[in-house]
Amino acid sequence: MAQPDISHHLGPSDSRLIGDAHLYIGGEWRGARDGGTRELTNPATGEVFATVDEATADDARAAISAARATFDDGEWSSTSVTERAAVLRTIADLLVRDKATLARLETLDTGKTLAESVIDVDDVESVFRYHAALIETSADRLVDVGDPAVVSRVIREPIGVCVLIAPWNYPLLQMSWKIAPALAAGATVVAKPSEVTPLSTIAFVRICEEAGVPPGVLNLVQGAGPNIGPVLTDSPDVDLISFTGGLTTGTSIAQTAARHVTKVALELGGKNPHIVFADADRESAVDHVLTGVFLHSGQVCSAGTRLIVQDDIADAFVDDLVERARHIRVGDGLDPTSETGPLVSRTQLDKMAAYVRSGIESGAVLRHGGGPPDRDDLHPGGFWFAPTIFDHCTRTMPIVREETFGPILTVERFTSEAQALALGNDTSYGLAAGVRTADIARGERMVRRLRHGTVWLNDFGHYTPRAEWGGFGASGNGRELGPTGLAEYQEIKHVWHNTSPTPAGWFTHREP
Ligand code: NAD
Repeated sequence: MAQPDISHHLGPSDSRLIGDAHLYIGGEWRGARDGGTRELTNPATGEVFATVDEATADDARAAISAARATFDDGEWSSTSVTERAAVLRTIADLLVRDKATLARLETLDTGKTLAESVIDVDDVESVFRYHAALIETSADRLVDVGDPAVVSRVIREPIGVCVLIAPWNYPLLQMSWKIAPALAAGATVVAKPSEVTPLSTIAFVRICEEAGVPPGVLNLVQGAGPNIGPVLTDSPDVDLISFTGGLTTGTSIAQTAARHVTKVALELGGKNPHIVFADADRESAVDHVLTGVFLHSGQVCSAGTRLIVQDDIADAFVDDLVERARHIRVGDGLDPTSETGPLVSRTQLDKMAAYVRSGIESGAVLRHGGGPPDRDDLHPGGFWFAPTIFDHCTRTMPIVREETFGPILTVERFTSEAQALALGNDTSYGLAAGVRTADIARGERMVRRLRHGTVWLNDFGHYTPRAEWGGFGASGNGRELGPTGLAEYQEIKHVWHNTSPTPAGWFTHREP
């Protein structure tokens, strides 16, 4: 078997998959109109390792025009579901073929471990296979209107032109949750990955092209949100904006889109509680709390950053966590011995340092971490940050209220079930929550009353493409995945077909 490429630079197979032009508009790969480019930084070294084309506002407009014209000509939107499902399955097959390269690109861009990147590509493959099956089994709904002459049916049609905007933490996975249902539904797309991590999406769009997605159906632009974002989100030619990212960006996109009454689906941040009752299985609880917050160095929207633990066990539980956290191996994502990678950027590193200062100033007790890990074999330019644990936190502290989006765990304590519930719901977000208890009835009570889009009972972090994902409150609106996720990409039309027309018979008066 070929040795994995552990160089921090793009190798021949990486370059082959990315190609030498990175905007894909109307079926043509090209550079920016003004020749503009952006340099990408490897999080494990802090060094520039790739350059991609960066779209101008005119490029973004051209991408919307291509998606609009392709949708309006009706060829793609009227293909049979069998044909579209076949394209989705071919994409899934090609993802398997190019898995190693895609995973490597994801690690070079994000810093996450190669093992995580491989799981991401596997998940993307499942997302495409799921949507292929889902669209094939979708059916119209017949409505009985009480008149045998009338066939009343509710049908679903592709929504039109979709602008899909993704973040940097799961670049390809988050984009796949949007592109798969959009293609399955028969919509057309302008995709914009994060400017921090565009490589896997570029490679993926080339895969879609090879799989037979027709020109103009899937368009790709690169660039910073503030530069091309307003063009993409302020257009009467766009029917849906599906956005995953931060609350501030999501709010501004919703405001812009309102000008054209464009439908907006938002997957935003989270500040997710992980509630541990004293009777929970200790070993798995400690392990899942640790994984829930420190996987991908905490750069996960559903990370369990708030441990809410019952008083009786709190001290011992936190001691166990600190002991385990000391042994987490932070390192280069390409090094197979690393358990978690660096932060994605210097911006994130500075943000974590600021949150550590804020935690200390607000009176929380720093039990572990708070800065770079204690190792001298890491590249000095990498964005390293150790798993960090703050004990004795209270609900008013910024580290408890704000989404830190990094490896910082805060610990709050409770005595009663009612208190645990109140703390778990005391957030403006509502993306995900975990509950750990041996008392099944109590667990189910908590599940019912927690105001979060996903609740894990005696588990944490799992999802499936077959079940909806999304948030309550400030974590967003709409859902991705599952039948509801597909429905975001469809318009609903009621067809009333009278098979035996007769006069309405309402206006019967006639002049003599
Ligand atoms: P971000 O909001 O900074 O950027 C997200 C995307 O929006 C990027 O592609 C960016 O270029 C683009 N963007 C920025 N300004 C824009 C504008 N004015 N108009 C249009 N697009 C614009 O978020 P991020 O830092 O990339 O990602 C981290 C955030 O994403 C966290 O808050 C995290 O919780 C969230 N997230 C949520 C989920 C979920 O499922 N709910 C999943 C992953 C990440």
